[in-house]
Amino acid sequence: EPALQLDAVGLQIGGARILRDVSMQVATGEMVGVIGPNGAGKTTLFNIISGVSVPTSGRVLLGGDDVTGRKVHQRARAGLGRTFQTSSVFPGLTVGENARLAAQSKLGGATSPWRFPRADDEASGVAARCLEEVGLAHHTGTAAGVLSHGDKRKLEIAMLLATEPEVVLLDEPMAGVGSGDVGGLVEVIRRLHASGRTVLMVEHHMEVLLGLVDRVAVMHHGELLAIDTPKAVMADPAVQKAYLGETV
Ligand code: ADP
Ligand code: MG
Ligand code: MG
Repeated sequence: EPALQLDAVGLQIGGARILRDVSMQVATGEMVGVIGPNGAGKTTLFNIISGVSVPTSGRVLLGGDDVTGRKVHQRARAGLGRTFQTSSVFPGLTVGENARLAAQSKLGGATSPWRFPRADDEASGVAARCLEEVGLAHHTGTAAGVLSHGDKRKLEIAMLLATEPEVVLLDEPMAGVGSGDVGGLVEVIRRLHASGRTVLMVEHHMEVLLGLVDRVAVMHHGELLAIDTPKAVMADPAVQKAYLGETV
């Protein structure tokens, strides 16, 4: 059973066809890069997988279960997690408090930005483990707002991990990250994949993407143009034609 399956997913808004008949299967533990020019439909695809948008045709399956009509939080409970193209940390809270809130959202109960760490608190324990995994354990007391872009992205990944996802969607994790921070962030993403999680990642940074992923999905004008190994996709004449005169 694939971790994620899309069957002929389409999205029409007004007269515009934003996505057309997108079908793919992603195996458990696989990492797939999603590329395509600006406006190709990459973020929309993530919105449909995560339940932010409902497709006008087709189906979305997680671990074999049809989740097409299910809400965002139901899919999160079914093991789906994502990061967004724009930052989603609370800048006035510390790194530890942000991670603790994310852990609380999974554990349930009232959420409150209690001081981190809090003794005998399960959410603090989960948060500490996730911050350790992304290499931010030394920053727990730092206000999230003063982190570098790279460390903010790491915090977002830690917050994602705190929800214990099996399938992870990363939307442009390298965007805005300084060149000095890219290597550390790549290592965090490599470990996400190495730990057995299924990962889909939209990324424009091609050298980074091609070195990380098992397969590449190419979106173009709302269609899935190709999905194959990095080598096969880059050699595909249809992909080369689609990218003539455009920045990958
Ligand atoms: P990408 O992430 O590949 O840059 P998007 O998925 O954000 O592209 O957008 C794909 C296309 O769909 C764009 O042309 C965008 O303007 C359009 N689009 C996305 N969401 C909506 C919406 N809610 N209403 C109308 N058009 C939308
Ligand atoms: Mg792999
Ligand atoms: Mg996008």
